[in-house]
Amino acid sequence: MENTKFFEKPQEGQPWDVAIIGSGPSAFSAAVYSTRGAASTLILGGANWGGQLMLTTDVDNYPGFPEGIQGPELVAKMRAQAERFDAEFKAEDVVSVDFSSNPFKLKTDAGEYSANAVIIGTGAGTHWLGVPGEEKLRGRGVSSCAPCDAPFFKEKRVVVVGGGDSAMEEALVLTKYATSVTIIHRRDAFRASQAMQQKVLANKKINVIWNSEVTEFVGGDKLEKVIVKDKDGKAAELPAEGAFVAIGHVPATEIFKGQVELDEKGYVKRYEKDGYKMATSKEGVFVAGDVHDFHYRQAVTAAGFGCMAGMEALKHLDKEPPNY
Ligand code: NAP
Repeated sequence: MENTKFFEKPQEGQPWDVAIIGSGPSAFSAAVYSTRGAASTLILGGANWGGQLMLTTDVDNYPGFPEGIQGPELVAKMRAQAERFDAEFKAEDVVSVDFSSNPFKLKTDAGEYSANAVIIGTGAGTHWLGVPGEEKLRGRGVSSCAPCDAPFFKEKRVVVVGGGDSAMEEALVLTKYATSVTIIHRRDAFRASQAMQQKVLANKKINVIWNSEVTEFVGGDKLEKVIVKDKDGKAAELPAEGAFVAIGHVPATEIFKGQVELDEKGYVKRYEKDGYKMATSKEGVFVAGDVHDFHYRQAVTAAGFGCMAGMEALKHLDKEPPNY
């Protein structure tokens, strides 16, 4: 497909119309809208770009892919679509932002940029348990990404911690390699969707330990066992070469502290004001996706929020007032 341009890129040192920080569905969807509204658009996507879809295998719930699609392929298609409309993509990590005056300033590990509107779409990262041994053994048996690391656990014993869709997905991926997969969940019921629960509970390789928490990961150079405590406080040792932590996510907002308002859990506070729905506490800075939305957290909702933020950035720039 041919590239289509609706704007000229700014001269060296001049501000972009829109800078988007992030590289998941919210960021790329925002870019499709901002570029098509003739706003010069820079995407600062990070060195490890692609967000959580890069860690996902089958995506069966994104419309338009009746056979399903692999997460990395979906996000690569999103990037290609934004670039088709001439969005400039840089795989650079933003290290600081200065939203105190317009144009807003953004510093990366490789350069400095400015923009008249900013969309924050940095998503969320792994929530670790924070128990002894976890940090030391990360990459040595402790992981948060089964699609990335499962092949290392061929014919090994693994545990998965958590009871949501991520934990179910991790467990199912691991059954293709490991000899046994044990899910350890702190309650007596999963919070995952019925469809995922049924797949997991029907899989003979998966065993569940209910009402229990992992209190320690033990090993020298590599993970050897996990310590599990039940609700009566009784501890047991479970030998395992692999442990996958899937207990949710934390928003990637470190660089926005003091620049826009965050809530008590660190998510960007989204404001509905002056006809905008994706506004932040700072005029001209918008937010989209898992970095503010801890409720739905779906690729399709993130893309929807990205669309809204892209349209609202255009409205702010007085480019092409959206029709709503
Ligand atoms: P989640 O739904 O928030 O589930 C987190 C799980 O971890 C919960 O079962 C929770 O237990 C447990 N947990 C949290 N903190 C813990 C702690 N300190 N110690 C032990 N356990 C802890 O997170 P998620 O599974 O990452 O899913 C996030 C969102 O993405 C969801 O909306 C999900 O539907 C979606 N998702 C969809 C797919 C898919 O459709 N293919 C795949 C992955 C994720 P409690 O249940 O007791 O709170």
